[in-house]
Amino acid sequence: MSLMPLSEARQRMLAAASVLTEIETAPLGSSGGRTLASDLLALRTQPPFAASAMDGYAVRAGDLAAGGILRVVGESAAGHPFGGTVGSGQAVRIFTGAPVPTGSDTVIIQENVTKLDGGCISTNVIEPFGRHIRGAGVDFQTGDLLLTGGMVLDSRHIGLAASMGHAALPVRRKPRVMIVSTGDELAEPGASLGEAQIVSSNSVALAALAEAAGGTAFDLGIVKDSRDATSEAIARACENADLVVTSGGASVGDHDFVQDALKANGFDIAFWKVAIRPGKPLMFGSKGGLLCLGLPGNPVSSQVCGLLFLKPLLRKMLGQPDAAYDRREPAVLGAPLAANDIREEYMRAKLARSADGDLVATPFVTQDSSIQRLMAAADALIIRPALSPAMPAGAKCEIIRL
Ligand code: AMP
Ligand code: MG
Repeated sequence: MSLMPLSEARQRMLAAASVLTEIETAPLGSSGGRTLASDLLALRTQPPFAASAMDGYAVRAGDLAAGGILRVVGESAAGHPFGGTVGSGQAVRIFTGAPVPTGSDTVIIQENVTKLDGGCISTNVIEPFGRHIRGAGVDFQTGDLLLTGGMVLDSRHIGLAASMGHAALPVRRKPRVMIVSTGDELAEPGASLGEAQIVSSNSVALAALAEAAGGTAFDLGIVKDSRDATSEAIARACENADLVVTSGGASVGDHDFVQDALKANGFDIAFWKVAIRPGKPLMFGSKGGLLCLGLPGNPVSSQVCGLLFLKPLLRKMLGQPDAAYDRREPAVLGAPLAANDIREEYMRAKLARSADGDLVATPFVTQDSSIQRLMAAADALIIRPALSPAMPAGAKCEIIRL
């Protein structure tokens, strides 16, 4: 199989994935980061009554005249409306959020009022009809469609949903992601390292990425580099999974068994080599509704491919629109770049603002896919299309922020 362009690989992957059908009910307090499963209508009108936007006096605009005197006949505070009607020549003391009493149509702010003896006020300010009043329904009305299915809920949406009259929201079930790390050299984080061992960092990084993208991650630990062990581990991972993610062992070296093991478990491999850097050995396959993603072992490759493949895949499964879409931004290069080959490249870079306001992306000198320190220090990835020519510093480019 020759190298497949990234856009084609991603399209094929997304086409093979379906939106999870199960819908859960999440209380508002735990709905942050969840994906709304259906459109949401307002169950009430906000505000439900005309409310004062200021502390002051509710009056009739027609009564206002220079030096005019009004008699204060009551009070309307938040949660404590004035029960009567404001007549001509009368005012009601009012506070922010309180219902505007019948008969009144305007609020004069307290700073523009002089208190007189005998329960009266005077003002020199002439306010237009409706001043400082929030009409009933200015925010939204019963039946308004305010939140759409597929959106990822954040604090703004949760607050709005509460005001709309919802106490719990329909959300998509979280995709279950099983993570299998392959490699004889690996030890769990925190374990003491034997000779020639390194820490398995990919499993936890991928789990964090999967959770941040809306999934539930299960770290199934480290698997030895043997055909049987890999196959057994993948068989275990398939139980109760929506997606099996493997790290390492994805090439065709003597110690790479992931592809064989996936096939032995009945997966159909749609592609296993993608024209990207970092991360050429990258597999995707399916077995009925169960999906698998085989990511490369080098930590930076694993993380970049996680962003480019795992994240959109989970977004698709969650029913988020435009799952394939990366939020790209224009920038200019902070350093010259050599011509690129056939692999679309994602270069770790720092961002800064130039004196004339340009966003400047400067790639790190080393782009070695084992250097995690620079992946963690990067602000963005510069996207270099396949076969792009050499570029001088200052040339236009596109970035994805990390
Ligand atoms: P592989 O893809 O298995 O050939 O691994 C490529 C490189 O990534 C090797 O240097 C591995 O030691 C390293 N590697 C593989 N898996 C992990 C992991 N889970 N955490 C950190 N490094 C890994
Ligand atoms: Mg390996």
